[in-house]
Amino acid sequence: MTQQPDEENTAPKDLPSSEDEWRERLDDEEYQILREAGTEPPFSGEYVDHDEDGNYCCAGCGAVLFDADTKFESGCGWPSFYDVDDDRIETRLDTSHGMRRTEVVCGTCGGHLGHVFDDGPEPTGKRYCINSVALEFDDE
Ligand SMILES: [Zn+2]
Repeated sequence: MTQQPDEENTAPKDLPSSEDEWRERLDDEEYQILREAGTEPPFSGEYVDHDEDGNYCCAGCGAVLFDADTKFESGCGWPSFYDVDDDRIETRLDTSHGMRRTEVVCGTCGGHLGHVFDDGPEPTGKRYCINSVALEFDDE
């Protein structure tokens, strides 16, 4: 009756299980954003004006997150996407800094990616505003 699914068995094998292990895996900038929900300065990220075909993956665990086809020029200073598969990410309410925002985290490792806003282009009207540091580009 009380048996819970064993989460250890469903997580990718090489995913860190402690914050110490995350610290070892990530550099300081990645750790600050992915694990401590930091934000890189606007227009500082390597993918802000990046425009190639491929996939943007999670810098923490390597899971595919965003398709380059959904990237658009938002002018906000961070890589912006208008769509994502719901099972790749999770969202949750973020009330930090006196604002009500929707935080976007990796659906696989739970790393902080950025926020999603409702001022994106059609067809979704969404703007996933994501830190370059939280992403790794894969041009396959
Ligand atoms: Zn991840």
